Amino acid sequence: MRIVAVDVFGVELTPAAGDFRLSRGRTMSASTSWVVRVTADDGRRGFGEACPLTSAYLPTFTGAVRAALEELAPALLGADPRNLADVAARMDATLLGQEAARSPLDVACWDLLGQDAGQPLATLLGGRVSDELPLYEAIPMGSAQETAQRVQRALDAGIRRFQLKVGGDPRADAETVARVVEQAGEGAVVIADANGGWSLADALVAVRALEGLPVFLEQPCRRFEDVLHVRRATTLPLILDESVTDADSLVAAVRRAGACGLNLKIGKVGGLTPARRLRDLAVALGASVTIEDTWGGDVAAAAIAHLAASTPPGSLFSVSLVNAAVVEHVAGGVPRTVGATASAPDGPGLGLEVDESLLGDPVLSFRA
Ligand SMILES: [Mg+2]
Repeated sequence: MRIVAVDVFGVELTPAAGDFRLSRGRTMSASTSWVVRVTADDGRRGFGEACPLTSAYLPTFTGAVRAALEELAPALLGADPRNLADVAARMDATLLGQEAARSPLDVACWDLLGQDAGQPLATLLGGRVSDELPLYEAIPMGSAQETAQRVQRALDAGIRRFQLKVGGDPRADAETVARVVEQAGEGAVVIADANGGWSLADALVAVRALEGLPVFLEQPCRRFEDVLHVRRATTLPLILDESVTDADSLVAAVRRAGACGLNLKIGKVGGLTPARRLRDLAVALGASVTIEDTWGGDVAAAAIAHLAASTPPGSLFSVSLVNAAVVEHVAGGVPRTVGATASAPDGPGLGLEVDESLLGDPVLSFRA
């Protein structure tokens, strides 16, 4: 099997529940998602997707992903897509970093490997062990009324896991978190995710106010050294996300910061190949993982679902299927969220039927 073509399509995604606000004034509104199609010499097509969450979430942005794809995609022409080590080596030899652009190419090759093997990716990523994925609802920064309404809608849908965006005024944030804990009720999981929005001083004020509440704290500060100071000031269980980008930072998160949870976004780490490695490392260290991506539609969601489905249930803290939060669907809304849960598709590879007529004309095309 050889790669004979790589095409990149720009698909406009719209957040289904309106603009999504994070700390530091960052707002997710409609955005271009890059859907990558890798075609093999037997005519099979594999898909991957990359969609950065605003231009100030990670050190990448939509235009950077496109530019990096323009460099990386030609390097894969002629490669056997089932040889993921060779695919990675070719990308390594072309560009350093650029994880968000490597990810859709890596995922599309995994899709082809799965199709060729006749197996769903969950099987190839370690085995399907989590059939009911524990989905969480992300609640953007907003007024008390907006927050209460969104939490109530999620509760009505059966969701009991909430990731509440904080990282603004620490006292107001703590009040919001306390209200959501009360509203969500006994047994709910509430994560206060600052997305690195607090200064060290703000974070110290926030954790003092949050101490004693049944909440998880996610990425209070951007800098890891600040996170270490926050860690020493609180007993709240800690999840790290933006700090964790590779094996070194993952081990430091668990060992130095005592993080009990790690948020692994497939695009943040460069695709399913590194995400699987980091997932296994986290599990081996006794930490739990949240599996998701920065943003995206059905293709990104399918990759998430397969990695999550192959994660031992006791180590799978939560999952976000990004496609449930967008209007546009290129594969019929699969994988489908049902209430508070979802499962990975059964078909080979990603298990998707991508409607290519919805992709439009490619913005980049490379032929062997
Ligand atoms: Mg996070």
